[in-house]
Amino acid sequence: MTTLLSPATGESIGEVPTQGADEVEQAVGAARSAFIEWRRASVRDRRDVLRRISDFIRRDQERLAALESLNTGKPITVARGEIGAVATTFDFYAGAVDKFGGQTIPGNAPGTLLTWREPLGVCGAIVPWNFPMVIAGWKVAPALAMGNTVVLKPAEITPLSALALAELALEAGLPAGALSVVTGRGSVVGEALASHPDVAKISFTGSTEVGSRIMELAAPTIKKVSLELGGKSANVIFADADLDACIPSSLWSVYDNAGQDCCARSRLLVERSIFSEVIDRFVASAEAIKVGDPAQEETEMGPLITAAHRERVTDFLTIGRKEGAELVTGGSIPDGPGNYLTPAVLTEVDSGMRVMQEEIFGPVVGIIPFDTEEQAIALANDSIYGLSGSLWTRDIGRALRVAKAIETGMLSINSSSSVHIEAPFGGVKRSGFGREQGMAALDHYTDLKTVFISDH
Ligand code: NAP
Ligand code: MG
Repeated sequence: MTTLLSPATGESIGEVPTQGADEVEQAVGAARSAFIEWRRASVRDRRDVLRRISDFIRRDQERLAALESLNTGKPITVARGEIGAVATTFDFYAGAVDKFGGQTIPGNAPGTLLTWREPLGVCGAIVPWNFPMVIAGWKVAPALAMGNTVVLKPAEITPLSALALAELALEAGLPAGALSVVTGRGSVVGEALASHPDVAKISFTGSTEVGSRIMELAAPTIKKVSLELGGKSANVIFADADLDACIPSSLWSVYDNAGQDCCARSRLLVERSIFSEVIDRFVASAEAIKVGDPAQEETEMGPLITAAHRERVTDFLTIGRKEGAELVTGGSIPDGPGNYLTPAVLTEVDSGMRVMQEEIFGPVVGIIPFDTEEQAIALANDSIYGLSGSLWTRDIGRALRVAKAIETGMLSINSSSSVHIEAPFGGVKRSGFGREQGMAALDHYTDLKTVFISDH
């Protein structure tokens, strides 16, 4: 059994089975059998099952939010929003079931040339601990919508919402075996899933290092792979920005989920003429964040996921200071139990430092000044990652020039939002490939079959 620990208290919140390759074998077998039925289900039956899953998630929103908050340490108000977003994801893909198909193609040969969209078969979904149910929804909903079946592997330490989702799916009428959850370690369950010959596709969200390993494991059986990996996104603030909107938005673009967010804008690039004003306002806002018990309604930032992860984050603060950075605020550990850490701001950083290059995945931002647009672009692109990012300016021409020049999968202008269920989500460079969300996700859960019907 695996004991789950509360990030807020360090105490046990329950146990789940530590499963392994045998359970992966069973789940893949069940998913193969269920695929026969599910792929043939009528479009409307599939739509209705997804819609009912969405309804049941909304019905149980409070229970699921409490579960997610308990398991991850995220504030209850945030968890409520996330569970609502999972319901919206199932809604969106319920609506997409009958709106995504093949084409009739004007071919040269006499006859009719068609493409059909066909499901892939059994899809493996491997999910991290930072947004367990949200990311599971991004994979499970489009996969099921297109007639695939799914074996879901949550992070070993945050399996509770995935297990709840599988129960709701059964209640909603999804055939048994069409969605299974296998709990256990990534190095055992994840590896078995990513190398299983009967798994057609792996959709992975997590670190770049494990993403690379997934590609290796998938190679011998030519599995399809899509990868949502790490990030070190830039937030570029020009002097003409509306700072009243920019500062609070930028604050949460890095400290949301205690910074454990692949889209975190952890590199703040600020035009020199407003550099000290931005630092002062940012620091004052960071110091006002209410860090505390995730179960309380007023809490804005909860603990980090584990004590070991907090140590990794504080190690980065030590590394940064050794490299010459100044810790202007935060980075302190409050008295008492739980993996809390106050929001940290680093200045006197340069782009080559480890704290500006590596993903810290905690509540830490580094702030760098720039003088010209070209410099801002060069700094933004000085990263192996390219997931997300923001830029703030009221000059539309500059906004478009800079947006085109930044190497990233997603960019928000005068905003910090990266997640829109209607639009593709994903990265470039070592942030991965393939897209989740929007109609674009459906490409990754279907194959095209080309059919030619002769006139003769
Ligand atoms: P991780 O260690 O890469 O783990 C992600 C998932 O992969 C977990 O379910 C993990 O299982 C599993 N896993 C670990 N080793 C594996 C292996 N050898 N084979 C197959 N599966 C394996 O990442 P994490 O520590 O959970 O999350 C933090 C990272 O995820 C950050 O780098 C962050 O940027 C990235 N992330 C990216 C996105 C995005 O959309 N781009 C979203 C969220 C997070 P266990 O946990 O059970 O070991
Ligand atoms: Mg890990």
